[in-house]
Amino acid sequence: MSSTLARPIDPMMPRKLFNSDHEAFRATARRFFEQEVIPNTERYEQQQHVDRDLWNKAGELGLLCATMPEEFGGSGVDRLYSMILIEEQGYAMDSSSGMSLHSDIVANYINNFGNQEQKMAWLPKMATGEVVAAIAMTEPGTGSDLQGVRTTAVLDGDDYIVNGSKIFITNGYLCDMAVVVVKTGNTEKGSNNLSLLIIDAKSAGFTKGKPLNKVGMKGQDTCELFFDNVRVPKSNLLGMEGMGFFMLMKELAWERLIVAIICQAGAEAAFAQTVKYVKERKAFGKTVSSFQNTRFKLAEMRSEIDMGRVYVDRCMELQLTESLPIEAAAAAKYKLSDMFSKVVDECVQLHGGYGYMLEYPIARAYIDNRANRIYAGTNEIMKELISRTL
Ligand SMILES: Cc1cc2nc3c(=O)[nH]c(=O)nc-3n(C[C@H](O)[C@H](O)[C@H](O)COP(=O)(O)OP(=O)(O)OC[C@H]3O[C@@H](n4cnc5c(N)ncnc54)[C@H](O)[C@@H]3O)c2cc1C
Repeated sequence: MSSTLARPIDPMMPRKLFNSDHEAFRATARRFFEQEVIPNTERYEQQQHVDRDLWNKAGELGLLCATMPEEFGGSGVDRLYSMILIEEQGYAMDSSSGMSLHSDIVANYINNFGNQEQKMAWLPKMATGEVVAAIAMTEPGTGSDLQGVRTTAVLDGDDYIVNGSKIFITNGYLCDMAVVVVKTGNTEKGSNNLSLLIIDAKSAGFTKGKPLNKVGMKGQDTCELFFDNVRVPKSNLLGMEGMGFFMLMKELAWERLIVAIICQAGAEAAFAQTVKYVKERKAFGKTVSSFQNTRFKLAEMRSEIDMGRVYVDRCMELQLTESLPIEAAAAAKYKLSDMFSKVVDECVQLHGGYGYMLEYPIARAYIDNRANRIYAGTNEIMKELISRTL
């Protein structure tokens, strides 16, 4: 029984988003995952991080920070290119690289709020892979409630002195730089107390924990970061002091849509893999695909996946004109991460015992997908946001 990857099945509702330039980029991204990532997945999982030079290879191919302006090392292209890279990672059933967080989240903070010097200092190196970036918000004592951040940054002459720690930080182990949410004030309105600092991982007093032992996504380096009297030049402040919370809000719709794109692609990949499997596997002298139960399960999944595809693509159209409502993005994140979990669970069932064996991609998808309902704002927080529209 083969465990090689199947390409996603075309949706019943045709997609309309991409032109031939996008498709050429997709071909490059697909080759990258097929040649550089998939053959190394097991090793990445054992060492709990990708090889450092994977970032440089991605940079050479123009896969990092493509949406950044050309003067800062990007290609100045639209966010459909980000969508394509995320989809191809999903179709490769890879959860080890945190490239989207680097290119589509951290780079945006610097591009949106950084001054010319900050952009020149970091973005070109992020685009080549010379610098790996992380975003550090969550702390041991606070995640959903960002206003509870305790990592402090206190001015001392021209520097901030940073003390505290962060947890569950994607790209944390390999990062060369992190945009860190720090507390710079003590006003009654907690949202006015937060600021964003760019912290060089080489700074004295900045240390990293070992990659955390997660349930899934084992090849992705997620770790703790510790700050012990780290001296950070004031010039590394992003935007204005006390505006951290508001800066974090600016791209929230996009960040939630990213998770929805990951989940949609993940569900499509799991489904394609399962269709392939049930057509090959035999029981009672017939293929598993010939049982009515299998056909109905596949029809149910196909319908749900197609509905998800139409919603994500519509969200993306609105995102391209910067008119995606934050609640619609929250709904996409909540609903599609739930859908992915349900689909992958059914897919495991249709694989029988092999679906429970980690050498089969579907088993990895089963453990990897769970985090989507937790990070980028838990699904409960998404429902809070959606309920406020009523
Ligand atoms: C694999 C992975 C990667 C991550 N990467 C990063 C990263 O790169 N950077 C980063 O900063 N963080 C990262 N995180 C952290 C992630 O964003 C947080 O775990 C998440 O925001 C939840 O915070 P918490 O873990 O403190 O849970 P809590 O906030 O303690 O939540 C516990 C439970 O309470 C519920 N809850 C909380 N508040 C409410 C409410 N108001 N109403 C109803 N229910 C509520 C939650 O939904 C959840 O079910 C990552 C996490 C994981 C698992």
